Amino acid sequence: MKHDIILCDLDAFFASVEQFDRPELRGKTVIVGGSPDARGVVSTCSYEARKYGIRSAMPVKKALALCPEAVLLPVNMERYKKLSEKVLKIFERFTPDIEPISIDEAYLALKKGTGCETAVKIRSTVREELGLPISIGISINKLLAKIACELAKPDNLKTLWPEDVPNTMWPLPVKLIPGVGPVTEKKLNLYGIKTVGDLARFPADGLVNIFGKNGIVLKHYANGHDDRELELVHKVRSISEETTFPQDVFDRKFALATLFDLSAEVGYRLRCKSLRARTISLKLRFADFKTITRDITLNEPFDTESAIYNTVKDLFTRYGDNPPWRLVGVRVSGLENWQQLSILPPGDSGEKEKKLILIRDRLRKKYGFEILYSARKLMKKQ
Ligand SMILES: [Mg+2]
Repeated sequence: MKHDIILCDLDAFFASVEQFDRPELRGKTVIVGGSPDARGVVSTCSYEARKYGIRSAMPVKKALALCPEAVLLPVNMERYKKLSEKVLKIFERFTPDIEPISIDEAYLALKKGTGCETAVKIRSTVREELGLPISIGISINKLLAKIACELAKPDNLKTLWPEDVPNTMWPLPVKLIPGVGPVTEKKLNLYGIKTVGDLARFPADGLVNIFGKNGIVLKHYANGHDDRELELVHKVRSISEETTFPQDVFDRKFALATLFDLSAEVGYRLRCKSLRARTISLKLRFADFKTITRDITLNEPFDTESAIYNTVKDLFTRYGDNPPWRLVGVRVSGLENWQQLSILPPGDSGEKEKKLILIRDRLRKKYGFEILYSARKLMKKQ
């Protein structure tokens, strides 16, 4: 392995944020979750709360019965997301190779031999700048880093190198292996496999008989082997499409049809990446090579081609409506992550368009972008 891999996991993240924001809550039993009468569940609880047996996903009512003096706070997701982004920015100072797993967890790949010193620096930076506790597991692959992190919690760091596997990992319960949920655990127990070591020593063909191909993966994991790569996200800052015409274009309608197609492509690429944008730019090059870009930032983030095209058309009318044109381009920026269209609440005003977009995107993913007629092609057919 060329890298050290570390897993960084913020401790009791939501509760830690609340305790940082409200110093009077530090050292207290804090539960972040839903309302006790609305069948709410515990989202996160502070380590103080864990001493009472309170756990994530437990009904809040039950948690409060275990510890009546606990402080119950609603989930403030906007705040947690902001801090999560700040933590990610801290990670980015140390390496560009980051795989975020969730709002409070990420794998980082570091130069071989630098895992420990970097982990120490990351922990102190996150603590000093954001006041948050973070645990870090250090090793050479994802699996060992993950288990090391489990062992490090709370608020500490731990290494788990391949040579430590027999002494450190084998005595642990087998459910620590990723992929071993309650069902698999029960099945393994039936065959006398209770610890990671039992699994590591179990004959491979026996495991294949019980679990199929997954049996081999489980055995590899139990021996500390894992060749999964980090799934890196290199941040996209903008998405753009432009077209240089073979000949200067005098036809306003054709220029707009081209901008419509470019808007559709940009919108499609945005949605493929589950992103939404806030800023739209129009780029125009005139016959004399004069080039202009004009942009608008909207209040609401968007990902539909109509939102993009309507703005582009508006910019075109205001700034660029003097033919002939050599080049037209559309660019969106101010990107943010967004859920898939399909889980938008019903009754959303653009619901019909969104349904259509979903269908078109599916077709394009299957057959390629060109499967649908473009506005330009339709104009040429007339
Ligand atoms: Mg965490």
